[in-house]
Amino acid sequence: MTRESMEYDVVIVGGGPSGLAAATRLRQLALAEERELSVCVIEKGSEIGAHILSGAVFEPRALNELLPDWKERGAPLNTPAGEDRFLYLTERKAFKLPTPPQMHNAGNYIISLGNLCRWLGEQAEALGVEIYPGFAAAEVLYDEAGAVKGVATGDMGLEKDGRPGPNHQPGVELHARQTIFAEGCRGSLTKGLFQRFRLREGVDPQTYGLGIKELWEIDPAQHQAGLVVHTVGWPLDQSAYGGSFLYHLENNQVAVGFVVGLDYRNPHLSPYEEFQRFKQHPSIRPTFEGGRRIAYGARALSEGGLQSIPRLTFPGGLLVGDTAGFLNVPKIKGSHTAMKSGMTAAEAVFELLTASETGGREALSYTQKLRATWLWEELNRVRNIRPSFRWGLWGGMAYSALDTFVLRGKAPWTLNHHEDHRALGKAADFPKIDYPRPDGVVSFDRLSSVFLSNTNHEDGQPSHLRLKDPATPIRINLAEYDAPEQRYCPAGVYEIVAESTGPRLQINAQNCVHCKTCDIKDPTQNIDWVVPEGGGGPNYPNM
Ligand SMILES: Cc1cc2nc3c(=O)[nH]c(=O)nc-3n(C[C@H](O)[C@H](O)[C@H](O)COP(=O)(O)OP(=O)(O)OC[C@H]3O[C@@H](n4cnc5c(N)ncnc54)[C@H](O)[C@@H]3O)c2cc1C
Ligand code: SF4
Repeated sequence: MTRESMEYDVVIVGGGPSGLAAATRLRQLALAEERELSVCVIEKGSEIGAHILSGAVFEPRALNELLPDWKERGAPLNTPAGEDRFLYLTERKAFKLPTPPQMHNAGNYIISLGNLCRWLGEQAEALGVEIYPGFAAAEVLYDEAGAVKGVATGDMGLEKDGRPGPNHQPGVELHARQTIFAEGCRGSLTKGLFQRFRLREGVDPQTYGLGIKELWEIDPAQHQAGLVVHTVGWPLDQSAYGGSFLYHLENNQVAVGFVVGLDYRNPHLSPYEEFQRFKQHPSIRPTFEGGRRIAYGARALSEGGLQSIPRLTFPGGLLVGDTAGFLNVPKIKGSHTAMKSGMTAAEAVFELLTASETGGREALSYTQKLRATWLWEELNRVRNIRPSFRWGLWGGMAYSALDTFVLRGKAPWTLNHHEDHRALGKAADFPKIDYPRPDGVVSFDRLSSVFLSNTNHEDGQPSHLRLKDPATPIRINLAEYDAPEQRYCPAGVYEIVAESTGPRLQINAQNCVHCKTCDIKDPTQNIDWVVPEGGGGPNYPNM
């Protein structure tokens, strides 16, 4: 069967803050200059927001620039950030530390980023953007000269072995003069673009964190709308980078999450169990006792910062948001920078498309424009903070204080990053970690958690978690690393099962919450995460 095709001026892959900001800005410019410009956004989630998971304390700087009247338009920014608390935890005690300047949140809002995206989607549609949720871009299309000419959505109704089943429907080709990739952290198509156009040559590897989050409705007596709490220290040891966040939203809700840097070394570590253990801390547990857990999910975040940003443009397209890596780690914020990169890309693309009718050209001015924005200056100032945590928690904190207060981000050096999967040590060289059993009150097992993510993938489709070599999980991962995928996957997708023929890796792909950690942390890079059928994955209500 041949694929149908649709023609647009601009196709945007991903309906997160970066993609929706790009779409909105493109249409604003087209309307202001009374030009025809067709813009389409495709999103793999069943609706806009279904796959969005963030903290989130939101800095409204980019939104102020994009839609200055957001308040009148009813943007869901309802809870101004109030008190900031920064705690260092030992196993039994909590010590208040001075809040680092990047973590001051006056003027920011505690939000659900999923809900903000739903609202942004409505604004974009009102300006004439076509939005297609439930469609996953599975393939990049190239023209004869090798330039990107759009994307194709995946086929529907394939059998497990990849052959067309009785309900087979071929994917659709979306052709565009420019394609904007806004896939978020570790974009699956972006990975191929990195290779094809050698976009990562001369820059540091990207480094990542895994964020696991729950949404709770808590006892009103424990609730303080606007309170922002961050912790470092216990339960992680000094060598692993990470910490927690607790954000008190409206309606007695608290967003609680735990982020672990994926450059951790001990293969016995389980980010999920660390999070569950964290909630047992005497200073944290009372917040959740008597409350109700409403939602659960996980997502990787890009932590490399400025030195890990790849070349952003290539013939026919460009990268925006977390798929390029614009997150500001010391602030733990990437939504405002994602939006700003999307808006800047839109301005460059609009200029290019109005200057020439042909497609396949490279929007080179995007990078120049970006370098002149506050985003670049913001990332430049903090570029050495995340890599300094290679010296452990206290080494990193001491360097960060020096970098922030004395050097003011103007150090004449730049610290480098290494690939996360290479950091993983051998199982025999590290102590096993004895995690407590969940108590069912504040801590829970993985499967009951995944249930709260409303994850669903159509039965019978080929697995979207592909092994390059089926023997590696047992021969190398189990033998040398004690199968770390059993522990780093926050959805329990990977299980080693004992069979009469020996151990076997079982992949419960239907539980995957699309966090992308396996694609990042697998020590042999044997796991390739590709998009499943459109609409599959979590269905987050308001994460
Ligand atoms: C635990 C956690 C806490 C965070 N806390 C904060 C915070 O407090 N404040 C803050 O500002 N930032 C925070 N961030 C970071 C922030 O969420 C991201 O920087 C931001 O979401 C990036 O926006 P994006 O548009 O680049 O990508 P995303 O928000 O990831 O959106 C990408 C979209 O593209 C879709 N997509 C991906 N691939 C395809 C494909 N091939 N086809 C179709 N659709 C596709 C995805 O489903 C998704 O909807 C946090 C992140 C995490 C994980
Ligand atoms: S299978 Fe991979 S992407 Fe899916 S939830 Fe597990 S670690 Fe995340």
